[in-house]
Amino acid sequence: MKSLFGDLHVHSCFSDGNYLPIQLIEKAVSKGLDFISITDHDTVDGVIEAKKRDTYRSFRLIEGIELTVSFNPKIHILGYNINIEDIFLNDYLRLNKLMSIRDFMKFIKLLRKKYEINEFEKYSKIIPFSFSNLIKSLVIDGVISDEHDYYIREISGVNYNGAISEYYPSLTNGVNVIRNSGGIPVLAHPGQLSYKNNDLLELVTYLKKIGLRGIECYHPSHTKLQCESYLKIAKEYDLFITGGSDYHDDIDVSIDYGMFYNDSILDFEKEAMRLKVIY
Ligand SMILES: [Zn+2]
Ligand SMILES: [Zn+2]
Repeated sequence: MKSLFGDLHVHSCFSDGNYLPIQLIEKAVSKGLDFISITDHDTVDGVIEAKKRDTYRSFRLIEGIELTVSFNPKIHILGYNINIEDIFLNDYLRLNKLMSIRDFMKFIKLLRKKYEINEFEKYSKIIPFSFSNLIKSLVIDGVISDEHDYYIREISGVNYNGAISEYYPSLTNGVNVIRNSGGIPVLAHPGQLSYKNNDLLELVTYLKKIGLRGIECYHPSHTKLQCESYLKIAKEYDLFITGGSDYHDDIDVSIDYGMFYNDSILDFEKEAMRLKVIY
């Protein structure tokens, strides 16, 4: 069987990436990739946009998402083969967005203490509505001088990716909403968590109990050693091995779009079908 090449972790400008979903697909096709999954932070709008265009023959778009959930203090859970029309998933995302808008108001209020912002309305209508797009607009308008403005970082706290929110749903909620929509929940980039050895095994044991089906072993932030230990854990716990570049733009040259491939995509599909039958 021919090996399939692709990327299971890609962000579009509907969260904090730089490219439109269709541009990501065009780039993938020109690179000779067989599939990608658009896994934007807490939104499926990029996937919906990508699906509006005819896809290329034999090229596959895997419907994905990357949820931020509360857990010591927060972790990222990837969801693959989700049903983007699922009512519960959409309810969940709508609530997240509401919380984002609430936090957006708070953010603007703090911003106004230092900078003059008269066109408040304009910023609340940014499409796609995300933290990074808001920052980009503020830079373009000359409100702040650059994206790494110290004050912005200070008042935005630890969350500097995609959604503007201090609120995150629970881990169980996040995993459930992916599974209920027929999707495969996967622990994203475990190397970025502060868990070491036994703590990580404990976390994986717990996650598996609540429905986790995979672990992102291949990620640009992982060392070779980390990668090997995650592969071992995945095998031991009977979890899918996934990988992706976490591609956002071309700024970080060490991250190559499509730098990982994954043959288990076909098993993935079988598993998703099985989940769909169960729920
Ligand atoms: Zn992430
Ligand atoms: Zn990501």
